[in-house]
Formats: sequence, C-alpha cells, structure tokens
Amino acid sequence: GDFAIETGTIVVGAGPGGYVAAIRAAQLGQKVTIVEKGELGGVCLNVGCIPSKALITAAHRYEQAKHSDDIGIVAENVTVNFDKVQEWKASVVNKLTGGVEGLLKGNKVEIVRGEAYFADANTLRVMDENSAQTYKFKNAIVATGSHPIEIPNFKFSERVINSTGALALKEVPAKMVVVGGGYIGAELSTAYANFGTEVTILEGASEILNGFEKQMSALVKRNLKKKGVKIVTKAMAKAAEETENGVTVTYEVDGKEEKVEADYVLVTVGRKPNTQELGLEQAGVKITDRGLIEIDKQCRTSVSNIYAIGDIVQGPPLAHKASYEGKIAAEAIAGERSEIDYMAIPAVCFTEPELAVVGYTEAEAKEEGIEVIAAKFPFAANGRALALNSTDGFVKLVTRKEDGLLVGAQIAGSGASDMIAELGLAIEAGMTAEDIAMTIHAHPTLGEIAMEAAEVALGTPIHIV
Ligand code: FAD
Repeated sequence: GDFAIETGTIVVGAGPGGYVAAIRAAQLGQKVTIVEKGELGGVCLNVGCIPSKALITAAHRYEQAKHSDDIGIVAENVTVNFDKVQEWKASVVNKLTGGVEGLLKGNKVEIVRGEAYFADANTLRVMDENSAQTYKFKNAIVATGSHPIEIPNFKFSERVINSTGALALKEVPAKMVVVGGGYIGAELSTAYANFGTEVTILEGASEILNGFEKQMSALVKRNLKKKGVKIVTKAMAKAAEETENGVTVTYEVDGKEEKVEADYVLVTVGRKPNTQELGLEQAGVKITDRGLIEIDKQCRTSVSNIYAIGDIVQGPPLAHKASYEGKIAAEAIAGERSEIDYMAIPAVCFTEPELAVVGYTEAEAKEEGIEVIAAKFPFAANGRALALNSTDGFVKLVTRKEDGLLVGAQIAGSGASDMIAELGLAIEAGMTAEDIAMTIHAHPTLGEIAMEAAEVALGTPIHIV
C-alpha cells in the first residue's frame, strides 16, 4: 500500500549483525522491524561460517577415518557420499536459520521480506517482486554485510566460483585452483584436500594466511603440503578460461607465465561491503573510499539516528564482531552508554591445525609501546594432546612485563577455536599470568596448555625445562 508503516527501530539485513541487533533492541522495549532480502541468518548461517564448518567437519572425519593406522585403526573402503554431506550441511543450516526466525518472532520482531532502500533519514522503502512499502522509523541499524570480490579476467561462472559456489558443489572436484590464501581460501582448501581434491593455492603475498604470525601459518602450510596441496606464493593470477569441462588458470610467478588446469577455480581474495544501492547518500550517511560506513564508538553513522554494524564498518569482517556491534547499537538507541572495545575480539581460522588469536601479538604490543613477555607452551608436552594424537601447535601468551597483565594470546593446535575463549575472557577481565596459572584446569585437558604457558611467563613451568 502507499501509506507508511510507523516503527521504532528498523534493522536492514538479518545476518549475525542484524538479527542480534533486532533481538537486543526488542529486549530493550523498542518496536522493531527487520528487513531481509535474502535468507534469515545472512552470509554467516547460509553461505559462510556454518556451512563451511560443516564441510570441514565431514572432510576431516573422512580423512581421519582413512588415516588412523598409526593408532591402530585400519578402515578399508572409506568413501564419501557427497550428496549426503551436502544434505547434512543443509540440515544444519536450516536448523539454525529456522531458529533465528523463531527467536525474532519470540521477541516480537516484525520480519519483512524485501530489498530496503533509504529515501531519507527517517524513511525506508522496501521492495519485493511485486510491491513496495514505505516505513517511517525513529532509528535504523544498517547491517547489510558484504559480498565476494570479483577480479578482472575471473568473471564468476559455473567454473569460476566464489565461496558460495565452493560450498554448494555437487561433487568432489578432482582438481581445484584456489586464488587467495586468506582464511576462507585456506579453510576451503583444507576441506577439499581432505575430500581428495588436488588443490593448488595461488597467493599473491609471500605467505598464505599472512594475517597470522609466521610460526602459526607455517604449521598450516606444512599440513596442507602433507595433504598434497600445492602452494604457490608471490603468484599473480592473470586469467581463467573455461574449457569444455573445466578451466585453465594462467598466473605469473617469478616473471614467468604458468598455466594450471582444474575443474574449478575458487576466487577468495576478499569481500566488499554492501553499501551501494541502499540510498545511503539520500539519508546523508557518509561512506569511505573503500565503501565502508564511518561510525563512532556507539556504531552511530554521520546521521545521528542511523547506526551501522558488521562487515560494512571498519574492523575484522567476522560474525561475532557483527553481533557484538549489533548489541551496542541497540543499547545506544536505548540511551545506554555501551561502547565498542575491540581489544578482546578473537579471530579463528578453522584449518589444521586451527589458529586462534585474541588481543595483541608480541609485535603489536611493541608497536603500542608495551614491554611484554611472550611465553609459549607446546601441545606436544600436554597429555591430552598426546592422547588425542594431536601434538602440533602451541599456546603463546603475551603479558605486560611490569605486572603480568595478559594483553594477547595466540593458539595453534586442535581445539584452538574453543581454547581462545578463556584467554579472551582473561583479557576482558584484566587478568594476569598469575591469575591464569593459579586457575585450576582439569587434567588431562588441552586447557592445561594455557595454564602451563602462564607458568612459563612466570618463569616456573612444571612440565618443561
Ligand atoms: P551478512 O551476514 O552478510 O548479512 C547481511 C544481510 O543483509 C544478508 O542476509 C543480505 O541479504 C541482507 N541485505 C543486504 N542488502 C540488503 C537490502 N538492501 N535490503 C534488505 N536486506 C539486505 N566469520 C566468522 O566469524 N567465523 C567464521 O568461521 C566465518 N567463516 C566464513 C566463511 C565464509 C565462506 C564466508 C564467506 C564468511 C565467513 N565469515 C566467518 C564471515 C561472516 O560470515 C561475516 O563476517 C558475517 O556474516 C557478517 O555479518 P553481517 O551481519 O555484517 O552481514
């Protein structure tokens, strides 16, 4: 209809930023409407975090089933039913997206399907296939997320795919080229290599996973190579040409042009914020050259009643960051004094071994002018890691020299993704190496590795000399 619907807080996008913001806003008594043009749950639940972790799990199980001879388990004729893998993956996604719908409804959030467009700083137009509706809002939270970057000569097609395509393949490819060795490229390479695909990673920089310290990425690199993955660094991907039933990728390395054939080329070179065609300029919202929305410490944009969160604002493009900002924006609208503090935001890479970081690295602490002690304890000296047959990796704690305050932690090893939570909490709570060392950790657990690393920081480790 052409009349305008009045609402309190309108949220654009129902990813981990938007749906969490909507629920918190409703909890705080706001009348909330959420607009989603695609699927509830956004990238994370539908084509990101969750389906990628499901594929990683299935691939890892397969690989483990085949290669457990060293601990006395011999399995023959282990096979992959990839249709079933995809079905299971979809069932996990559906459970979660259905859950989000239930949570929104349970919190009395009105769900509107369609594409949103700002007409001005208090008006949103929502269009679906055959209708348009106007909403008048007091406050808006923009959470439209991001999409994969396409590079010249690699136009997305049936054979030139992005992460969404790579998660939805109908069969395990015999050969795949992965352009970009960031965390998404490395995770998907691990999964497909485990399924049996011959993977070649083309990375432009001198290392894959170069957001992580070299001693961490080196472990992943070694493991990928063990799986048969070919890693070409300082490689410039030049073009993809589709052949009859595959694709030829041309790249340049050391000034020489090389070619590699594959069934698919997966391009994972980064993501771009969805801030175009949203009418943001009409609302007066400022955008940087990189397409990001500028916000203050309460996620407020240059327009005081419009907030922005998640992949469309600065900082690491991660689901838990989007959710965290969502809560802050909703609380700011309610007049609370919540502010962003990224100090204890973890980042995890679900490779083998897993990599997880929070707070400062040793080098970052130094750059901040903090004198630190970096203390490491290896998985190989931990009983549980040995009993899990998973001894690759370490926990490293970065503590302030003057008082032992924990300012950062890096973990490489199986279980790192869960173990990092304790150290994030320790940073958030202002704990010291002594606090961690004096916390009783159950034996035998991987958690003890953090305790032992804290004892290394104090100079009194029990299980290494
Ligand atoms: P999104 O999740 O992108 O959601 C935005 C929503 O807005 C979408 O549903 C979109 O349809 C909707 N929308 C956009 N424009 C409009 C409009 N005009 N009108 C209405 N609706 C609109 N992060 C992690 O933390 N851990 C991981 O393990 C992880 N793995 C990943 C794996 C892959 C393969 C990928 C691609 C990403 C991964 N991420 C991971 C990143 C994570 O998915 C994103 O950081 C997160 O989804 C961002 O949340 P968001 O709410 O900002 O946006």
